Amino acid sequence: MADRFPPDRPNPPDLVPFDDARASVLERVASLPVTEVGLGDALGTVLAADVAAAEDLPPFANSAMDGFAVRGADLAGAGEDTPVALEVTGEVFAGTGRLPTVEAGGAARIMTGGALPPGADTVVPVEQTTVDGDTVLVRLDPGPRRFVREAGEDVRLGTVVLERGRVLDPAAIGMLASVGRKAVPVHPRPRVSVVSTGDELVDPGDPLGPGQIRDSNSWLLAAQARSAGAEAFRCGRLRDDPDALRRGFALAAADGDFVLTSGGVSVGERDYTKQVLAELGDVRSFKVAMQPGMPQAFGLAAGTPLYGLPGNPVSCFVVFETLVRPALRRLAGHPDDRLDRPQVIARLGEPVRSPAGKVSFLRVRLAVGDEGLVATLTGHQGSGVLSSCVAADGLAVVPAEHRELPQGSPVQVLLLREDLAWVS
Ligand code: AMP
Ligand code: MG
Repeated sequence: MADRFPPDRPNPPDLVPFDDARASVLERVASLPVTEVGLGDALGTVLAADVAAAEDLPPFANSAMDGFAVRGADLAGAGEDTPVALEVTGEVFAGTGRLPTVEAGGAARIMTGGALPPGADTVVPVEQTTVDGDTVLVRLDPGPRRFVREAGEDVRLGTVVLERGRVLDPAAIGMLASVGRKAVPVHPRPRVSVVSTGDELVDPGDPLGPGQIRDSNSWLLAAQARSAGAEAFRCGRLRDDPDALRRGFALAAADGDFVLTSGGVSVGERDYTKQVLAELGDVRSFKVAMQPGMPQAFGLAAGTPLYGLPGNPVSCFVVFETLVRPALRRLAGHPDDRLDRPQVIARLGEPVRSPAGKVSFLRVRLAVGDEGLVATLTGHQGSGVLSSCVAADGLAVVPAEHRELPQGSPVQVLLLREDLAWVS
């Protein structure tokens, strides 16, 4: 099993426990100020105030079937062998405003959604009738208010239909439209500026020179930010040069509600990022007791929260999911119990190792076994091995106090994908 885990290295003395790092990041971000958005832009945002219906839904009593609007008293005792004849005196379509009155012995043809006309108090479906000229033979005694959708039966005027804190999903948007709301107060999507740092970085599509690698992190982070519900903009690769970094960070901070930068937060020779970030405001570098992803930086750069993530792509991925995502979701107005990825308990399908004193986030695939979910490693757990993320359904959490866990141990797994409904 040793070959799937990075080698153990001695821990630096100033490691910050994972939970403390998470708490101190979260305590420095607050939800964005409320704005009014139109329904077309509201999907995925968090409602900032309760919404009460300004109208009854449906707004008037209407027919649930195509058939005839009738007076129930006329049809007492009607049946297959005892049909009752009524005179058809009008018709009502969905949208008809001027309604015919149904007198005793009369009936109005009515379509689904048509308003129940005055005089009528119930509906007979077309299947229970036979039409002959202006006469309709009815073979059913429908009883009162049959196939009638009453005014306000779904929602009464004044009822709270959606509560503050609710994520506006498709059903919520449909409800808002149904009760006549065309704009709602929400916390806006955070605007996230993403930069990467490193002389070695080349964009996808450009030729790869000696010693160069692709800039994957800015694409990865922008995509992660978007899938967390933010708007994300890549605003450049910055060279390992203090002036370029200063300019780049200042621009990114001016542009967004949150800045993500990767690389240069470790202890390498040209890791100027830390030094430049420290000049920008109160951004501090720290080492979190986690694997992967130990070296990080966080703080306010000219008033804008800035997160410095490690350069190794897997570290970047894991730090985003476990620490940055909750912060972005707080900015977006999600309540405290909905900041993290949903979690499930699974049993380890194989023994695992974890470095002393650090929480490990292992990339795992999930399967349903005889005794519930089973988590197996997706491959080498090194912090540069991005293929282990591509194959992962989740991140299995090995708490800091464990050096190893045997096969079959229960572990928490953070679910990474939304199409994993089958696991719960
Ligand atoms: P650093 O923290 O800058 O020393 O980077 C650590 C490792 O991550 C190095 O191997 C870098 O080449 C790599 N790295 C840094 N930034 C990126 C990036 N944007 N995309 C892919 N790899 C990166
Ligand atoms: Mg670098």
